[in-house]
Amino acid sequence: MLQMKLCGDLVLRSKCEPVDNITPELLHTMDEMVSMMDAQNGVGLAAPQVGFLSRFLVMMDPDTKTVYRMINPQITSYSDEKCTMEEGCLSVLGSDNLPVFSNVTRPASVIVEWTNDSGERVGAQMSGLPARIVQHETDHLDGVLFIDHLSPVRREMVMRKVRRRK
Ligand SMILES: [Zn+2]
Repeated sequence: MLQMKLCGDLVLRSKCEPVDNITPELLHTMDEMVSMMDAQNGVGLAAPQVGFLSRFLVMMDPDTKTVYRMINPQITSYSDEKCTMEEGCLSVLGSDNLPVFSNVTRPASVIVEWTNDSGERVGAQMSGLPARIVQHETDHLDGVLFIDHLSPVRREMVMRKVRRRK
């Protein structure tokens, strides 16, 4: 059973290592992560959020319900155009045990490449919500949280709610 790591845990602040081998254990962990994401009404979950310092993640396009399972994902291109959207994170919870949301500005579209379950390198251009989610999740693999993209004032507003949980 996987356990969700929460803001304050150092595992969320570490850089993850590339995946060398696609093992049955890895694929099973990703199955569990998809179930966990669904159960918590999330749209993405990265390995460090469940305690693995390894470069893999799962995510879902909320519009099409397409689930992506990405091993060694890499964003190879960012649009110059930016957009602002509300973001939350299953590892950044407030006093009600629900994610704390804040507006974050990021590139509007990206090109992302990853290795799929079969070991093939595949890619996609993403815009809208999927582009947003894949940037948030790949950040996790480098120990970056969405609050790092906020102004100090906005970050403090989020952290105040996080601290109130304790
Ligand atoms: Zn997150």
